[in-house]
Amino acid sequence: MKTKKSEKLYQQGLEHLVGAVNSPVRAFASVGGNPLFIDKAKGSKITDVDANEYIDLVLSYGPMILGHRHKKVQKAITKATKKGYSFGASTKDEIKLAKIVCDAFPGMDKVRFVNSGTEAVLSAVRLARAYTSKSKIIKFSGCYHGHMDALLVAAGSGLATLSLPGSKGVPDEAVKNTLIAEYNNLDSVQKHIDENKDIAAVILEPVGGNMGVVIPQDDFLVKLKELCNANGILLIADEVMTGFRSKFGGAQELFNVEADITCLGKVIGGGFPVGAYGARNEIMEMVAPLGGMYQAGTLSGNPIAMASGIATLSELKKQDPYANFNVVAEKIKSSLLKSGKKYNVDLVVNRFGSMINPFFTKDEVTDFSSAQKSDTDKFGVFFWEMIKNGVFLPPSQFEAWFLSSALSESDIEKIEKAIDASIKKVSE
Ligand code: PLP
Repeated sequence: MKTKKSEKLYQQGLEHLVGAVNSPVRAFASVGGNPLFIDKAKGSKITDVDANEYIDLVLSYGPMILGHRHKKVQKAITKATKKGYSFGASTKDEIKLAKIVCDAFPGMDKVRFVNSGTEAVLSAVRLARAYTSKSKIIKFSGCYHGHMDALLVAAGSGLATLSLPGSKGVPDEAVKNTLIAEYNNLDSVQKHIDENKDIAAVILEPVGGNMGVVIPQDDFLVKLKELCNANGILLIADEVMTGFRSKFGGAQELFNVEADITCLGKVIGGGFPVGAYGARNEIMEMVAPLGGMYQAGTLSGNPIAMASGIATLSELKKQDPYANFNVVAEKIKSSLLKSGKKYNVDLVVNRFGSMINPFFTKDEVTDFSSAQKSDTDKFGVFFWEMIKNGVFLPPSQFEAWFLSSALSESDIEKIEKAIDASIKKVSE
């Protein structure tokens, strides 16, 4: 496999970019080797600067659910660029995207668009505090909610990848109101409630995606919501990853739970920088200009991003790929398990809709500590062999793989073959 051009760009990138990347997980630190530089992508495939083509299971960490450069999305974006790039004033498309989003999530009467998942979450936390006049937030270890100070503790994603407990530069005061509970463990939430009177909200990824895929068990979400209701605590569902991915109405639709505040991102921008938070009217009316909770953004509701979001969600609604995602993901899961057995490699596969990943461990993975028992060296070997066999994966044991509706039958066969070769390699 040729990587000469990527290697050269990596060396050049080191001069003015930190680690030659703009987001830490892209650095390939936990799988060894240097990052591949991408030239272009189309449909289910992504191509690096050395002209190696891969089936893309990263999909920009989720947003590209229709595959790359879907023709309807491309058309909508091109049309929008002809009208202007940013106005700092309201547009019709913001109303249109807001309606699509609010119709999909019954718990949302109103939504506010921002520019990233991080912004959505930090605004949602501020809103929960404003609405309840309380300060403390419960989060779950292994859940990642973007890089706001207060939630950058016991977090998954890049922190898990790089084995960092938290971030330098976050002062103690910023996390003193953050309480950590264990995913799938209601007792750990109850304990905080018993010991603290000042809890504004519980925030979680309704399905874990940033410690690898971790699924809520035994009505965890329903019972968590009941616990919140009984104690005057708001439930914030961070559906930045799961929104429109697992089901049009996100994990909340699938598990029949209605959060008080929902955070969105990724898919709703179809590859452009968009985040959103929303809730029922009485909560959203706290937000400026209606209420006293301030939050703003120069580029929020950007017209190109809105056009991309509208086209992506409209096409997604039309395609309704969710049943097929289950079929494809199940095939991939079976291949992983079959090859694991064949080559005597211990692995557990968690899958939720179109999010899936193997953990190189023997025991069930139900929370962050069980995920962390995985053998990351084995994952590194697996990752590079998948790359050599033409499948692009997130370079971390603790990131979900994503499926797009652009995957063809032959792509799936190629993925299955790559899995077999890569697990064989792990066993050697
Ligand atoms: N919340 C979740 C669940 C995420 O997965 C992410 C990003 O991966 C974020 C929040 C932060 O979103 P962004 O990277 O757009 O700031």
